[in-house]
Amino acid sequence: MYLKSLEVHGFKSFANKLIFEFHDGITAIVGPNGSGKSNVADAVRWVLGEQSAKQLRGAKMEDVIFAGTQMRKPLGFAYVAITISNEDHKLNVPYEEVKIARRVYRSGESEYLLNGTACRLKDVQELLFDTGIGKEGYSIIGQGQIDKILSGKPEERRELFDEAAGIVKYKRRKAAAQKNLEEEKHNLERIEDILSEIE
Ligand code: ATP
Repeated sequence: MYLKSLEVHGFKSFANKLIFEFHDGITAIVGPNGSGKSNVADAVRWVLGEQSAKQLRGAKMEDVIFAGTQMRKPLGFAYVAITISNEDHKLNVPYEEVKIARRVYRSGESEYLLNGTACRLKDVQELLFDTGIGKEGYSIIGQGQIDKILSGKPEERRELFDEAAGIVKYKRRKAAAQKNLEEEKHNLERIEDILSEIE
């Protein structure tokens, strides 16, 4: 499993549609200050479901949309897609390639797409659980994040190990099942109340 390509259109400084192709080995992105290197990493974070504008170095989510320059009008949407090679089927879907896309409009309307089909953020998150790729995974290490990991609380560090060990999806499922159980408990209590009123 590896990142094959990244497509950006209308995202931050990338007004035009642009496709980055990644190959075997190490890819380095170099360029002058302010040329958009970090925006490439932001695009990857964003398409994987980042909900915090602050994490994307903006004040509000709309800031990811190309805001225009002296030469060019602002755009009305931002689109990012990543294509992951899934030849080893580490992602639990029957496709050799998985394309995850996210689009947002200035109106606030937004959507996620998995191989071209509209889906929920939850579907993207579940697909990526335990792969290390998710927005909270360890595959994207931002500036200052190493320090944060080293000086963080043991529970926060534990989350990284859980992801690497592949047990996050079980923990999430356990939490969801416990929530359902709790809700059912309340429903039962209500039914018992109603029954005792009737009797
Ligand atoms: P450095 O080497 O200084 O860290 P960098 O190459 O990583 O810089 P980025 O921080 O990725 O550069 O890009 C900053 C540029 O992106 C700025 O010129 C900024 O104006 C532009 N930019 C950010 N958001 C938008 C947006 N919504 N619309 C247009 N341009 C944007």
